[in-house]
Amino acid sequence: KTVVSLRDVSKVFSSGTLALEHLDLDIYQGEILSLLGPSGCGKSTALRIIAGLGDTSSGRIIWPSGGDDHSSDVGFVFQEPTLMPWATVFDNVRLPSRLKGVSRNAAKDTVMHALDNVGLSAFAGAYPRELSGGMRMRVSIARAMVTKPKLLLMDEPFAALDEITRQKLNDDLIRIQHELGWTVVFVTHSVFESVYISDRIVVMAARPGRAFAEMIVDAPRP
Ligand code: ADP
Ligand code: ADP
Repeated sequence: KTVVSLRDVSKVFSSGTLALEHLDLDIYQGEILSLLGPSGCGKSTALRIIAGLGDTSSGRIIWPSGGDDHSSDVGFVFQEPTLMPWATVFDNVRLPSRLKGVSRNAAKDTVMHALDNVGLSAFAGAYPRELSGGMRMRVSIARAMVTKPKLLLMDEPFAALDEITRQKLNDDLIRIQHELGWTVVFVTHSVFESVYISDRIVVMAARPGRAFAEMIVDAPRP
């Protein structure tokens, strides 16, 4: 089952930069798909287009579920977790439900469950500045969990973390994705990381339109 498809998508920025050329991509329900390629090959551009944060110059984005506005179906995790520094971990994770008008009390179980899942329930009352980079990333993942996204887009989420923390987060992501049946598109320039976490890898070439490869990863999963 396909969550979203890109058909013949090209993107030329007003600066003249050709960021994507004739990109075809299908994202299947319940998979971790890695977009792998060197810096500047258009990975973020593709992710932003899927999220509805950027326009295409040509081509089509097809959501088989129908409808026009898919912003609430999509969760986004960036490399630099965008946490509110003045709010506690609990309130940061609670933000999406608050925006939907869910009361603090009604959201409590969901938020604490999400924090539990990333191993941070003891830090609900802490502030982002009191946490390490890896912990802040976990908060960001917990916040995405609360929105129950159909599709989670992650743009080089662990690239700024040290190897050990990064490896732990890879393991956590695999576990959470499996438990919740998440569909994840994971942008990375690490061959190791993509092989380790993905069900499928799409390799993008340094120059748009030059080459494109897809491979199935048959690694042991939980
Ligand atoms: P579009 O062609 O889609 O209208 P723009 O060229 O207007 O896109 O740029 C959109 C935004 O991205 C602007 O705020 C611009 O300052 C910023 N931007 C421009 N060049 C780059 C770049 N190379 N990488 C990242 N952001 C950029
Ligand atoms: P990646 O995520 O693979 O590093 P990007 O999608 O960020 O690649 O960028 C693809 C190309 O498009 C690069 O040449 C980049 O400089 C350019 N680019 C990205 N965003 C913008 C923008 N808003 N305006 C102009 N050029 C951009």
